[in-house]
Amino acid sequence: MPDRYYIETPIRESQATLAGSEAHHLLHVMRAKTGLKVIVFDGLGGEFDATVVHCGRTEVQLEVGPRKEIERELPYKLTLAVALPKGDRQRWLVEKLVELGVTRFIPLKTIRSAAGAEQSSKLARYVVSASKQCGRNRLMQIEPSTSWVEFLKQPIATRQLLAHPQGHPLPDFGQQPQTDIGLAIGPEGGFTEDEVDSAIAVGWEKVSLGRRILRIETAALAMASAIVLGSNHSDEVAGS
Ligand code: SAH
Repeated sequence: MPDRYYIETPIRESQATLAGSEAHHLLHVMRAKTGLKVIVFDGLGGEFDATVVHCGRTEVQLEVGPRKEIERELPYKLTLAVALPKGDRQRWLVEKLVELGVTRFIPLKTIRSAAGAEQSSKLARYVVSASKQCGRNRLMQIEPSTSWVEFLKQPIATRQLLAHPQGHPLPDFGQQPQTDIGLAIGPEGGFTEDEVDSAIAVGWEKVSLGRRILRIETAALAMASAIVLGSNHSDEVAGS
C-alpha cells in the first residue's frame, strides 16, 4: 500500500499541496520524486490516490484522483475519558486508542490525578501519525481536559461504563454494541469513593477488568479492545 499523508484542509479532486512536516517527510525522509504514488486523506472521511507532480523545497504538489469512500470507523461511537498517565505513556495511549477505532478522547482531571494532559497540539499530532499508520480516514476527536465534576454534568453516551476493580463483569454486547458507549478510567491512585458515587448517581455502571490492578493505559486499552473486538464482532474481524 502506498504511504499515507495527511492534509489539514479539505481535499478536492485534481490537485493538492502538501506542506509542513508532511511535505518534509515526503521530501527528505522518503526522498520523493515526480511520479511517486501516495494516498492522501483530510480526516473528514474517505481517501484519495495521488501522484507527486512537483517537488519544491518545502512543498509537494500532488495530482489527486477522486475521493474513495473508504471508512475504517466503528459502527457506533466509542468515547474514552481517561485520567492521563505521565509523559510518554500519554503518547502510547493516544496512539493505541486511535488504532482501536476510538471516536473521541477526553482527558480527565480527578482528585487523585497526577499528570496534566500534554499540549493538545501534541496529542493531535499523535492522532495524525497513528491514523496515517493504521488507515483511519477520520481523526479521533480530542476534547479539552475536563474536571470530573464538569464531566458528569452531560452524558457522553447511552451506555457509560466506569472501570473499577470492584465492579461487575463487563456487559456482553453480543456481535457488537447497538448503542454509543462511554468508558471512564481513573488515575493511578484510583477514583475516590465520592467520585464513584456521583458517577453512579447519574447512570454510570461500575465494571471490573479482572482481579489484578492494571495501570491506567492497560485498563484503557483492555476495556476498549474488549468492547471493539468482543468475542466475535463480525464487522471488525471480517474487515467488511
Ligand atoms: N489504586 C487504585 C487502582 C488505580 S489503577 C484502586 O485500587 O482503585 C488506575 C485505573 O485503572 C483505575 O482507577 C480503574 O479505572 C482502572 N483499573 C485498574 N485495574 C482495574 C481493574 N482490575 N478493573 C477495573 N478497572 C481497573
